[in-house]
Order: sequence, then C-alpha cells, then structure tokens
Amino acid sequence: MSQPSQFPALYPARAIIDLPAISHNVASMTSRVRSHHPQAQVMAVVKANAYGHGLVPSARAALQGGATWLGVAQASEALALRSAGVPGRILTWLYAPGVPFAELLAADIDVSVAAPWAAHQVIAAARDTGVQARVHVKVDTGLGRNGATLDHVGEILDPLLDAQRAGLVSITGVWSHFAFADEPDHPTVVAQAHVFDQAIALFEREGAHLEVRHLANSAATLTNPAATYDLVRPGLAVYGLSPVPHLGGPQDFDLRPAMTLEADVATVKDLPAGHGVSYAHHYLTQRDTRLAVLPVGYADGIPRHASGAHNEPGGPIALGGKRLAIAGRVCMDQVVVDIGDLPVVEGDRAVLFGDPSAGVPGAQDWADAAGTISYEITTRLADRVPRIYLT
Ligand SMILES: *Cc1c(COP(=O)(O)O)cnc(C)c1O
Repeated sequence: MSQPSQFPALYPARAIIDLPAISHNVASMTSRVRSHHPQAQVMAVVKANAYGHGLVPSARAALQGGATWLGVAQASEALALRSAGVPGRILTWLYAPGVPFAELLAADIDVSVAAPWAAHQVIAAARDTGVQARVHVKVDTGLGRNGATLDHVGEILDPLLDAQRAGLVSITGVWSHFAFADEPDHPTVVAQAHVFDQAIALFEREGAHLEVRHLANSAATLTNPAATYDLVRPGLAVYGLSPVPHLGGPQDFDLRPAMTLEADVATVKDLPAGHGVSYAHHYLTQRDTRLAVLPVGYADGIPRHASGAHNEPGGPIALGGKRLAIAGRVCMDQVVVDIGDLPVVEGDRAVLFGDPSAGVPGAQDWADAAGTISYEITTRLADRVPRIYLT
C-alpha cells in the first residue's frame, strides 16, 4: 500500500472515521451477548489497521464502548497497540517461526498457538524472559485453515501442559473459527460447535484452567447466541457493517457504519454526445453532457472491478444531491462521473460510501459493484487517503 499522505489537509479525498460509532457498535454487541450470557466479554478485532479505519484510534474507541479485549492477526499490530499505550487484554494469532514471542510476553500480550513449533517457541520465550505466557490454543474445528485438528491437538497440548506444570505458561484459552458463520443454518455451524465442545472437554480433562473459550466472529455474534461462550470476536460489525447482508443491513443489527469516504470534484467539463470516457471507452456519452472527475482511483483502494463496463454503471457515487455511478474504467488516480445537468462545481464533495441511513451508498453497495465483500472495501483503502477522526 501507499505511504500515508504527507500533507493530509491538501489531499483531495479523505475517510471520515466516526469513533463514537465504533464505541456504539461495541456497546450494542456487548449488550446483545450479555442479554443471554451475562458474563460474556467482547474482543474487538482491530487487525489490518482496524479494517482500514486506523489501528490505535479505533482500538481506543472499542475499549470506550466496553470491549475488554483487542484481537489482531499480526504480532507487529499487537506491539504497535502496546507501544501507543493502549491498555486491555490483547490477543495476537498469526505468525511464522521467528516471531518475537519474548517481546510479546514482555508487552503483556496473550498469544495464540496453532502449531507445535509455536508451542515450543513460546515455551522457550517464557523460560528466557521469566514471563509466564498466556496461551490460547487454536483448534481447527472444520474451517480447514489455521489451528490443530482434534486428531493432532495433543502435539500442542502436551508440551503446553508440561510447561504449565513448570509454571512457564498458562493455558488461558481455547478457540476456533467458523467456515460458514454467515449462513447460521448451515450444518457445519452446529458440527463445528460440537467439535469445539469436545476440544474444551479434552482441555479441561487434561488440566488446562481455561479462562476464555471463544468461537464467534461478527456474523455468529449477531445471529447465533449459542456460539457466544465466554468471549466473542467481532471485527466487521465493530465498524458498523453487516457481515450478513442477505439477512440485514447495519440498522437491522443496531450498527452504525463508521467510515465515510469522500472526494473533492477536481474538474467539471462539457462533452458532446457519443464521446468515449476513460480508458478503452467503456462508457459513451448518450447526449451532450457534463463530466465530473474525482481524484481517487485504484491507488487509493477504489476497486478497479467496480469500473463501469459497456455503459453499465460502475461503483455508486453520491454527488449533487443524486446517486450517480462511475462512468467507464476506474484509473489509478481518478474516476469519472457523468453528471448531466446537475449543478455540480469543482470543489464539491462526492461521497463514495458512508452510512446508507444518511442517504449515501454503503460499503456493501461497493462490494456488490466490485463482486466482493464489504470487508475488502474498507480494508483495501490505501494509506495515502487521510483518515479524519470524529470524536
Ligand atoms: C478476522 C477474524 C475475526 C473477525 O471476523 P469478522 O468476520 O470480521 O467479525 C475473528 N476471528 C478470527 C480468527 C479472525 O481472523
């Protein structure tokens, strides 16, 4: 991704991040899960620069909303949170051999162990540093991704149990992840929970003193109370987007989209009927008309797959009080909109996406236009687009 913009006030586009919306979303999910599990906690997942929203401000807003845990994929993200002084429990879960476990333990970070090598390295780090490691063992209950299957989890659990007896580690958590959380009635959902229950029983029988058992992402948090256990791990919903657009939008789940992406109109000009627009002329003006050029493109994270091909509309744009669409190809730094007679002038603000309840397109509309999921729309936003934080 690009470098952060050096002169953010001069950049002709920006992502407005509504931090109170993040706090609201976490508070809303906290009361949702506590209505059926009064002790349940929320881990706000802030990996990938908080899905593009900005790691540290988003993490603080999530804590403000009642999250007691933060979750990140990368060790570097966990260390960045701590070096910014962010409090609370932090879990990190994705690394390759050589991950600085000693640094993570010194920074009071909980670590996931998903493979035997990681068990051995974290035990060694605990021995070297004299800091007891809090370990969450990742079990593959059916996703077929990271974690140990029940058949092999002993290869992780056995060394950890030895290390726990030696006081080097505490087996703090057991956790897993769904393959079909966004289809709550899919048979794998119940099947995975069943395997998860077997893993928990095994761990407890063998002598782990589990503090937290956790399985639910956003979709399961919102649709599957049986998956709550001690802790839920929502990511997308923290940012106010629906992980199950086929079941409901943000408002249906009491969520408020936290990111609004806007761009300033760079050029307005007249074009005659029948004129091609943007690379390869995928759009032809149907009449004498006017175009607005917006100074954002795929280098800013606008998906090129949301281009308008063969005169079909591309990704949606709110401009001049109307809902318009990209005309022709998305370029590296710019997109074009056919504004017809609308009284748009240079410097006007276009909104690419934001809170649909405010009448603008949502990230989900861009996901639909690009053939992807809303996760990717916010997460791919380039670093060069300044983030402006509403507090
Ligand atoms: C990203 C991630 C989450 C959060 O998922 P959402 O669908 O965004 O809620 C939870 N758990 C794990 C293991 C993840 O990788």
